[in-house]
Amino acid sequence: MFKRVLIANRGEIALRISRALRELGIEVCIIHGREDRLSLPVRFSDYAIPNYRSNPLESYLDYEAVIQAAKDVGAEAIHPGYGFLAENAAFVRRCEEEDIVFIGPDADVITLLGDKIEARKAMEAAGLPVAKGSDEAIDDANVARELASQIGYPVIIKAAAGGGGIGMQIVHDSTEFESALNLCQSRAKSAFGDNRVFVEKYIEGAQHVEFQVLADGENAIHFGERFCSIQRRHQKLLEEGPWLSDEVRSEIGARVCEGARSVGYRGLATFEFLRDKNGDFYFLEVNPRVQVEHTITEMITGVDLVKMGIRVAAGESLSMTQSEIEFTGHSIQCRLNAEDPVNFVPSPGKLWDCHFPGGRGIRVDTHAHIGYDMPGCFDSLLAKLIVWGHDREEAIAKMKSALKETTIIGVETVIPLHKAILNEPDFIARDVTIQYLEDHPNLLG
Ligand code: ADP
Repeated sequence: MFKRVLIANRGEIALRISRALRELGIEVCIIHGREDRLSLPVRFSDYAIPNYRSNPLESYLDYEAVIQAAKDVGAEAIHPGYGFLAENAAFVRRCEEEDIVFIGPDADVITLLGDKIEARKAMEAAGLPVAKGSDEAIDDANVARELASQIGYPVIIKAAAGGGGIGMQIVHDSTEFESALNLCQSRAKSAFGDNRVFVEKYIEGAQHVEFQVLADGENAIHFGERFCSIQRRHQKLLEEGPWLSDEVRSEIGARVCEGARSVGYRGLATFEFLRDKNGDFYFLEVNPRVQVEHTITEMITGVDLVKMGIRVAAGESLSMTQSEIEFTGHSIQCRLNAEDPVNFVPSPGKLWDCHFPGGRGIRVDTHAHIGYDMPGCFDSLLAKLIVWGHDREEAIAKMKSALKETTIIGVETVIPLHKAILNEPDFIARDVTIQYLEDHPNLLG
């Protein structure tokens, strides 16, 4: 096992990773920007390496500085968390050159999965269901129209290098193609430096269901699914699990494991799908890293996914077989973003007061504390509130109670929206699609 690992991240996930490292007896190192110098993950680390930049994002994105920090502090491995360098193949390649273990898959696998067009092809070849669409980049509106007339409207144009829902355009008829294609290409170019886009069938009334996978380069196991359809701007807000019947879980689970094996995957991965009204699945993408909502799976399976990911990176084989993974009860996670709950505009600022709930079946993953100055330059995720109940009904009741005990004063949060969702009849009846928030515009009044 590693002696010392560098965390190249911040906020709640840096704290989550440092807990796993400490429990494994590994020394915790962290590289951090000026804004985070007083943050909990920095204060609780064994070695903190400041990397102050005029652009705060550079503190976490300058991968040569991260590699130098790992060398200076003698860390054998780097944990990227999510975001920042987690899916940066050039960084992973540099780690490989420097003989530093990147806790995640290798650079070639990240490159393959980071390209949605190539990932679709690879996973289709491995037997996963994908939506009808183009198997190469499209930059001509006529070619796109021709394809759309074959697969049927509406279609969606997406960036090959996409992430965070950026640039996606839904096209309802042929007259919209020219401008939608240009818009998606220019957004893709400015966000990802890559203007390649592709077209696929737009799945109407879909739900977002994703599978958690762990693989060691040879074998893969899955830890069931999470339901993540409550999204704003294609980004998740409330997640829960389990969602599927045992039969469907086994069937799709076996396929995602085959998908992971087919590319020699090592580490944690999430296979994301849309599921239509008929219950048919369509592969969206593989996220090759720990995810914000891994907590749901930990609550219903009782495993520590972050520790398992570190063990696999250290060269261990999978320590469990598929049949040892059992699911108990129901879990819900509410992301407590520091945002206006109506228009989702970020709300940075100082926390004058801050109190989180406790008790049986309640988990809070957060770097927030009284006096914490929430910066405006990073992600707005302030805390994750996770509950476990014997069934969904109990989990909902527990979440409502937990939200009532949560106090965050100094910034706006989405807590009022979560409270409204938990009382809304369609949510209670599990009648939820990815359009849920658009379909319920009056949730806040
Ligand atoms: P990103 O990597 O940018 O997050 P994804 O491909 O994972 O992109 O899609 C993110 C979200 O966009 C999905 O959860 C869904 O809400 C919507 N979406 C993507 N593709 C489709 C599609 N073919 N049909 C309907 N909605 C889609």
